[in-house]
Amino acid sequence: AKEAGRGRCIAYGADMDRDREALGELEEQLRRSLDTDALSVAFQPVVAAATGAIVGVEALARWKTPQGPVSPDVFIPLAEKSGLIFRLGRKVLERSIRFAADRPGVDIAVNVSPTQLCAPDFADGIVEVIEREKFDPRRLILEVTEGVLFDSPVQARRSIDALRAKGIRFALDDFGTGYASIGTLNHFSFDRLKLDRSLVQALDSERGRALLNATVSLADALGIPVIVEGVETAEQAAYLRQLGCGYLQGYYFGRPMSDADFDSLPTRLARA
Ligand code: C2E
Ligand code: CA
Ligand code: CA
Ligand code: CA
Repeated sequence: AKEAGRGRCIAYGADMDRDREALGELEEQLRRSLDTDALSVAFQPVVAAATGAIVGVEALARWKTPQGPVSPDVFIPLAEKSGLIFRLGRKVLERSIRFAADRPGVDIAVNVSPTQLCAPDFADGIVEVIEREKFDPRRLILEVTEGVLFDSPVQARRSIDALRAKGIRFALDDFGTGYASIGTLNHFSFDRLKLDRSLVQALDSERGRALLNATVSLADALGIPVIVEGVETAEQAAYLRQLGCGYLQGYYFGRPMSDADFDSLPTRLARA
C-alpha cells in the first residue's frame, strides 16, 4: 500500500484488497472482524447547549479483539492503508442509519475518511444505502477533515456537492487543529463546524479562552453552527453555553455507548 499523509488520497487498486501477503497480522484480523460483531459502532450524544436536549449522536467505530480493544486511531489508518476502509465505512453507515431510523429526532453524524471521499463512487454508495433504508437524508451529517479538501479539491467537491444536493449535511471535523484552517471555510460550504477538544482543554488559560471566543465568533460571522467536542466538566459546559455555542459533545454528557445504554439516557443531559 502506498503511504500517504493524513488527508491525502491514496491510489487504490482492487488488487490491493486481495494482496493478503502484504497485509500484516492485524490487518488480516481486521478483515475477518468486518463480518462479525467484533467490529461494532458506539454512539455518543450531541446536545443543544441551551437546553441539554439530545439532538444527535456521532457514530464511532469500535473493534474488540481477543487481545483487547484496539483504538480507532490505530485501526482506521490501518483500514485506510489496506483498502478495508470501504467495507468498514459501509458497515458503520448501515449500522448508523438503522440506529437513527429507530430514533426520530436524533441526527446521525458519521465520520468519513479521506480515502473514502476521494473514491469516485463515494456519493453513489451513500445515496444507495440511504434510499434502500428510506432514510431522510437531512438527518445524516458526514464529518470530514480538511486535508482531503486541500489535496483533492476536485473529487472532494464533486462528492460533497452531489450529496449536499440530496440534503445530506457536512461538518468540518477537528477545526482548530493543524488539519483544519480558515481558508477551507472560504472554499467549501459546511453545515457544521466541529471545534476540536484541544480548544476546550485550553479553556483554563486566558489565551485559550481568547482563542476559543475568536473561533466561535468566526463561525458566527459565517453563519455556521458550532459543535464543541471534548466537553468533560460542568464548568466547561457552562462557559461554552454562555458563549452561545450551539451544540456540545463530550464525556460530561455521555461517552460513546451501545444502543441499549443510549436508550436509557434521559432526553435532556444538562446538569449544569
Ligand atoms: P473524531 O472524529 O475526532 O472523534 C472524536 C473522538 O473523541 C472519539 O475518539 C471520541 O471517543 C473522543 N471523545 C469524545 N468525547 C470526549 C471527551 O470528552 N474527552 C476526550 N478525551 N475524548 C472524547 P475515538 O472513538 O477513539 O475515535 C478517534 C478517531 O477515529 C475519530 O476522531 C475519527 O477520526 C476516527 N474514527 C472513529 N470511528 C470512525 C469511523 O467509523 N470512520 C472513520 N473514517 N473514522 C473513524
Ligand atoms: Ca468526528
Ligand atoms: Ca473531531
Ligand atoms: Ca479526530
